[in-house]
Amino acid sequence: MTTKIGIIGLGLIGGSLLKKLRENKDYELFAVSGNEKTRKALQKWGITAGEDIKTIKPCKVVFVCSPISKTVEVLDKLEGVVSASTIVSDVASVKEFVGKKKRPYKLIGGHPMAGTEKQGFENSFKELFEGAKWVITPFCNYEKKDIDLLKKIIETTGAKPIEADAKEHDYAAALISHMPMIISQVLFKSAKDNKLAMKLASSGFRDMTRLACSNVQMAGDMVKYNKKNIEKAFDSFISSLNSLDGCYKEEIEELKKLREKMYSKEGKNIIK
Ligand code: NAP
Repeated sequence: MTTKIGIIGLGLIGGSLLKKLRENKDYELFAVSGNEKTRKALQKWGITAGEDIKTIKPCKVVFVCSPISKTVEVLDKLEGVVSASTIVSDVASVKEFVGKKKRPYKLIGGHPMAGTEKQGFENSFKELFEGAKWVITPFCNYEKKDIDLLKKIIETTGAKPIEADAKEHDYAAALISHMPMIISQVLFKSAKDNKLAMKLASSGFRDMTRLACSNVQMAGDMVKYNKKNIEKAFDSFISSLNSLDGCYKEEIEELKKLREKMYSKEGKNIIK
């Protein structure tokens, strides 16, 4: 028997998820998109796609892939649509706020640790999650078999599911994702008015400022929804900067060794 899976919001993450899952004959897909062009493309692939959230009513598992700031609104709407046995999982980059309210369905938060600076269905691609970690933060009404089913679906995308506490996730995400994005933006801001610097900038500056091109809606939401943890991450950044005094060479040598062991040749994080 096939598992019916619904995806709400067919942007970069929702679109990539759908493009990968549609290859698997064990899954029957249902999609909710506000974009007519996307719906037509999905219908051509034989996927049930509608504008109304009720389109996903028959699903056993529903992924909410909307912007962070719309996630709670979608979770509220689902209360009148899905049954108590439905597993709902979001993909928002901040987790604690998602689980604040108890829901009449099974809520298991999620965050795929993969993305690009692009957005929208047209930029989504099925290989996006290959080799990435996918955090899951169980919130309410779930049983072990629900977590197992969600993990199985996540593994189908090529990602590795990792269970974590939502609060701990949010600080970790601030350290490795949200703070780096802000540093990238501020770095670009600091140099942008120096004409010579802008003319000379090469690959180092390009790599360090890539995140300044992040999805603007998502960047704004991250800063708003994870502000406290981002501030705490910057406290750690400043104290790390201050502690470099006096032993710069020794310490950067140690840091270099650790950083070199962190990613595979293909650029995937290999820390278990
Ligand atoms: P995106 O490409 O901009 O896609 C967001 C999609 O959400 C839109 O295309 C739209 O889909 C849908 N949407 C917009 N307003 C909505 C509303 N009011 N209700 C329901 N759906 C709505 O952004 P994304 O990068 O896929 O991000 C989506 C989520 O993934 C965010 O929560 C983000 O934090 C998380 N995430 C992003 C990344 C990343 O690097 N991009 C990585 C991990 C997690 P339709 O056009 O189909 O309606």
